[in-house]
Amino acid sequence: MHSPVNRRTFLKAATATTATAYVARLLPAWAAADRGAVAIQTPLTTFAYSEVELFDSPMKRQFEQNHARFLNIEDDRLLKVFRQVAGLPAPGEDMGGWYDLTGFSLERNDFHGFIAGHSFGQYLSALARAYAVSGSEPTRAKINRLVKGYAETLDPKAKFFVDYRLPAYTYDKLSIGLIDAHEFAHDPLAMDVHEKLTRAITAYLPEKALSRQEQRSRPHKDTSYTWDETYTLPENLFLAYQRSGKTFYRDMAKQYLEDDTYFDPLSRGNNVLPFEHAYSHVNAFSSAMQAYITLGSEKHLRAAKNGFEMLVKTQSFATGGWGPDEAFGEPARGQLGDSLALTHASFETPCGSYGHFKITRYLLRVTKEAQYGDSMERVLYNTILGAWPIQPDGTSFYYSDYATTGKKVWYGQKWPCCSGTFPQLAADYHISAYLRSADGVYVNLFTPSRVQWNDAGGRYGLRQETKYPFDNQVQIQVSGSQPKDYTIYIRIPSWAAPDPVLSVNGKRVSDLVQPGTFAGIRRTWKDGDRVELELPMTTRLEPVDANHPNLVALMHGPLVLFAVADSQPTFDKNALLQAKATNNATGDWVASASDGSRVSMRPFMNIDKESYSTYVLLKS
Ligand SMILES: [Zn+2]
Repeated sequence: MHSPVNRRTFLKAATATTATAYVARLLPAWAAADRGAVAIQTPLTTFAYSEVELFDSPMKRQFEQNHARFLNIEDDRLLKVFRQVAGLPAPGEDMGGWYDLTGFSLERNDFHGFIAGHSFGQYLSALARAYAVSGSEPTRAKINRLVKGYAETLDPKAKFFVDYRLPAYTYDKLSIGLIDAHEFAHDPLAMDVHEKLTRAITAYLPEKALSRQEQRSRPHKDTSYTWDETYTLPENLFLAYQRSGKTFYRDMAKQYLEDDTYFDPLSRGNNVLPFEHAYSHVNAFSSAMQAYITLGSEKHLRAAKNGFEMLVKTQSFATGGWGPDEAFGEPARGQLGDSLALTHASFETPCGSYGHFKITRYLLRVTKEAQYGDSMERVLYNTILGAWPIQPDGTSFYYSDYATTGKKVWYGQKWPCCSGTFPQLAADYHISAYLRSADGVYVNLFTPSRVQWNDAGGRYGLRQETKYPFDNQVQIQVSGSQPKDYTIYIRIPSWAAPDPVLSVNGKRVSDLVQPGTFAGIRRTWKDGDRVELELPMTTRLEPVDANHPNLVALMHGPLVLFAVADSQPTFDKNALLQAKATNNATGDWVASASDGSRVSMRPFMNIDKESYSTYVLLKS
């Protein structure tokens, strides 16, 4: 059934008409009229948020916790700083932490207000995506109130940004909030507000995207913090162009592509990552992808692909996390291994995961390569699913700690950046699990879930049951209002060697199921057909970097198993590889250390307050 020949034949016959009709169908009727042109129809597209349902799982819980958290913060608190600056009545309690206007609080005895209102747009975006998933009427109503409330504070010169420390940073987040409010909640004001804000913000921005080196040479008058992130602006500006059809957005997006110091060298294969700020420069890869999609710029696709490869090969831990102390280091100098002794701020987890999901989803849509799904999955299970939920007062999980012995801790200030990306990402789990092609459906993440879609008057779906990654079995049940010819593509992770088994209705379909690819099964699918996947989960060791071959992470399938101990344990290599599961439901393992003690090994998502070592020492 795995038949590339069939697929090619099918594509030849069907691509031209099917792909066009398919793309047109994705656009809601109310939005189709004013769409800006895109140059590239990506071979894979995301499903609508509403077409994917997550069932009980850590992903589902994170989505629901985040949705509830932001639905339940009073509008007055979210809008307060904008009203204060506009001189309007501003009732409600201060949010606290990063969100307030700058000042010293006697009451709290601390300096607060790092970047006032910075995450308002992200909370709005997250609510809009959550509405797209859930159809929750209170959520839609809240989005409308927040857009209207924000609009009332916005004057034609956007005076909120006078002497504002990071105008691009906060504008970028307001931008996606308003775009999503329009796109998913059909907010009637959002795109007008977006245009008014965008036209005004240009007065506060430099003429082009500035690298940190360039920013150092022209310091802001508040010299304590000069880093703005102008290089992340194009992604959302291109989206605003696509959603509105207004070419000034496209032109402004081009203006802020960081070509000279970032994308040009990356496109030529020069690794210019070292010393850059980690999250925002990964986030900038998504701007390069939008330049490719919107303008057809091959250079920007090359830049994003090369940059992502450099990220994975030279900057990443076994967990998939990257950027200790929020910076990239020089390759081949052992900086990752060294960082374990130097910092507890190993990976900016919600923001980094959000950026990682976005870039891997873009690259997957364009290349159809399973490696991007593998990378997304690694970050999912070993970083973000282990993040503690945001607390009602804004206390948030920020860094994962991979230090020699580490611990999960709360971030010291309330409502940081990571409180903005976490709810956006949790909604995006829905659009990351499955993707769609002209000839079928791609199953990218293994999690209890269902995808359902309409096609030519029929209703079709896949329902996934699995305890993955704590079990290696995945069952998929096909539904369809009538039999239909299409291909189901299933990601076979690269570690799933030597012999993954894929069956349809109990019959093994092919021995050509290759780890590191999507296995395609093309047939006439009927209601009730069953697909079963069994992935051999290898146990293996990954050194932190080539300079520290004896500092290794124990891996099983997609999971890193962290050594739960108060000090870093030492193992004989073979003894570590013979670690055994003690509880399949929780992923608890045990391994015998060199000193004869038995050490618990546990995935990040099942660690709470206990001390752990991400990397253990091999006895040399
Ligand atoms: Zn963050």
